[in-house]
Amino acid sequence: MDILYLVIPCYNEEEVLPETSKQLKEKLLSLIEKGEVSEKSRIMFVNDGSKDKTWDIISKLHNEDKIFQGVCLSRNRGHQNALLAGLMLAKDYCDISISLDADLQDDINAVDEMVAQYHNGFDVVYGVRNSRETDTVFKKTTAEGYYKAMKLMGADIVFNHADYRLMSKRALDGLASFKEINLFLRGIVPMIGYPSTNVYYARKERFAGESKYPLKKMLAFAWEGITSLSTKPIHMITWLGAMVFIVSIIILIWSLVRHIMGKTVAGWTSTLMSIWAIGGIQIFSIGMIGEYIGKVYLETKERPRYIIAEYLGDTE
Ligand code: UDP
Ligand code: MG
Repeated sequence: MDILYLVIPCYNEEEVLPETSKQLKEKLLSLIEKGEVSEKSRIMFVNDGSKDKTWDIISKLHNEDKIFQGVCLSRNRGHQNALLAGLMLAKDYCDISISLDADLQDDINAVDEMVAQYHNGFDVVYGVRNSRETDTVFKKTTAEGYYKAMKLMGADIVFNHADYRLMSKRALDGLASFKEINLFLRGIVPMIGYPSTNVYYARKERFAGESKYPLKKMLAFAWEGITSLSTKPIHMITWLGAMVFIVSIIILIWSLVRHIMGKTVAGWTSTLMSIWAIGGIQIFSIGMIGEYIGKVYLETKERPRYIIAEYLGDTE
């Protein structure tokens, strides 16, 4: 029977934890009862350096019922790192992991379908929001625009999927071989490979407490996503340089024509031409240097070049 670990990063979540733990326990017990997962399944809370009573609540939960586990980070390291910490710990004990937020904005009833899809042979099951009704217009347009921009930048991410996802043990092992520090999990998970599918759910509003992702953190996170996955912005600079250089040639022809027609003051032609030509060459050169820096950047990530799914050999 497969052991399921629910992994929940928590930062200052004292207001939601009592209710969240209750609902998650009910959910897990019902799955155990139905024989979908082993009774060794656990709920793992990762305390991400909270400043309130979060850790006290988690320790109390664990002392009262061993279905709850707690991990306490030494300080606040951010949602993505907290989640990774939990998953990497869970990986050695579980067959399946599901990551979700402490505020239960992601409908926990989708867990059943995720587990069912795992039994259908999928290693990664993405929870995808089917509507953004609970979002403000601002959040909806920026979020959806962002997913589209990421696609344009060549990052392979699942539209409207955040970090609500099931991962099998071998997918977690794959994740473990990504050593990068700048962590944008939803961009890395598709790189791991293995069969994957989507499960759709409606996202609710936070039932208590405040969002731990104010606009500033959100923008930083969005930027992190693009810069940690894509070197396309550098390509854009190279292209811009090439384009300005082409413009400079057009200007060259035009200013020469004006010069021959005698409609210019002395020095105008040469000044105009050099401004454009040098500008183009400079931007292009910066882009070229950037291309190499981009390569160095990707090399320093030391990403795995491949992950073997199966080996049919004759070794014992
Ligand atoms: N979180 C965390 N560390 C942080 C910020 C957030 O572990 O520094 C957790 C938080 O406790 C929650 C999840 O990340 O479980 C998502 O945060 P939140 O619900 O506030 O984000 P939102 O849903 O508003 O985007
Ligand atoms: Mg939330």
